[in-house]
Amino acid sequence: MTLAKKISASIEKSSFIRKMFEEGARLKGIHGAENVFDFSLGNPNLVPPEEFKKALAEAVSESGAGTHSYMPNVGYPFARQAVAEFLTGEQGITVTENDVVMTCGAAGALNVVFKTILDPGDEVISPTPYFVEYNFYVDNHNGVMKTVPANPDFTLNLEAMAEAITEKTKVVLINSPNNPTGQIYSKESLDALGKLLEEKGKEFNKTIYLVSDEPYRKIIYDGNVVPSIFGSYKETIIVTSYSKDISVPGERIGFLAIHPQATYKEALYGGFALSNRILGFVNAPALMQRAIAKVQGVNVDMTQYEKNRKLFCDGLADAGYEFTTPPGAFYLFPKTPIEDDVAFVAELQKELILVVPGSGFGGPGHFRIAYCCDEESIVKSLPGFKKVMAKYK
Ligand code: PLP
Repeated sequence: MTLAKKISASIEKSSFIRKMFEEGARLKGIHGAENVFDFSLGNPNLVPPEEFKKALAEAVSESGAGTHSYMPNVGYPFARQAVAEFLTGEQGITVTENDVVMTCGAAGALNVVFKTILDPGDEVISPTPYFVEYNFYVDNHNGVMKTVPANPDFTLNLEAMAEAITEKTKVVLINSPNNPTGQIYSKESLDALGKLLEEKGKEFNKTIYLVSDEPYRKIIYDGNVVPSIFGSYKETIIVTSYSKDISVPGERIGFLAIHPQATYKEALYGGFALSNRILGFVNAPALMQRAIAKVQGVNVDMTQYEKNRKLFCDGLADAGYEFTTPPGAFYLFPKTPIEDDVAFVAELQKELILVVPGSGFGGPGHFRIAYCCDEESIVKSLPGFKKVMAKYK
């Protein structure tokens, strides 16, 4: 066999997602892309803010010795400084450039963190439903992914978490606002999680890290807030990107930040610098670092996502779907009226509606809608959603 066994097995495991995309492409070929309602991907449809475009144009026109050279593996000092200043305001605790590493998106940051801190067999615990790419990232670095259920409304289930933590646990990995549920974890639950990790760390005489994956942090509705994670636990590492909040996922720019009071902060920082380099990233893209340094605090206009959310929530409730209204991100995770979410999603496909079965996120009996799309396709798809639900009601 040419391919490594592990990659062959991973390709096979994710084949139902591939089949879905193939089916979507087939339907678009027959009916025209404008008549197929594609809510399958979390690929932001809004254009990046003008401020970003201006900053990018300025960055492109910069020249001089070293503009395109290698740089410190952790990133340009001025970019880290800009991020640190923003984080200081956001997290309510002084963060410096020496706590920040610029990365190739949140995905790059997660791989850097896992490469640096996981020994073979170390466990990473994450609540379900979850972003299943985590499985691959943990496995890349010989860790073992372990999942625990969330509460029915997708908030943190601390009892389940407490039971799952053992002497093998190295990381608890959370994602709030969450993909695929849109749920935001409350300050109380994060404080309780921090306390739990501290107690378990003492019990097992080790540091258990909290990795907080926050690419949707700025995409929130109804005046909701995403609490400062640094306020809840000091052995925390934030990983995030600009992919969603300024609509630039193709540019691969993000960062990780270590809690300024983390016990092994210097060792971690040195490890992250090396991992960034030897994973092949070397450093985050220079041009993007220059641009994002100038647009801290700038976001896309969320009113379109808010409008889309309302359209879907009103339309799906009217059609008889059950769901928790998501306070953040741009995903809805309704229940399927039958147990078999893959079969239900296939029924929606007959109405030219493309969504992802919840099983793909460790949340069977649900499906995920990504509403980072144009408004018209939502309006045109609602009769199809209603027709399919009517078959089961
Ligand atoms: N984490 C979550 C929860 C995501 O949804 C995504 C992308 O969709 C990522 C990480 C990876 O983000 P990026 O593409 O910015 O690296």
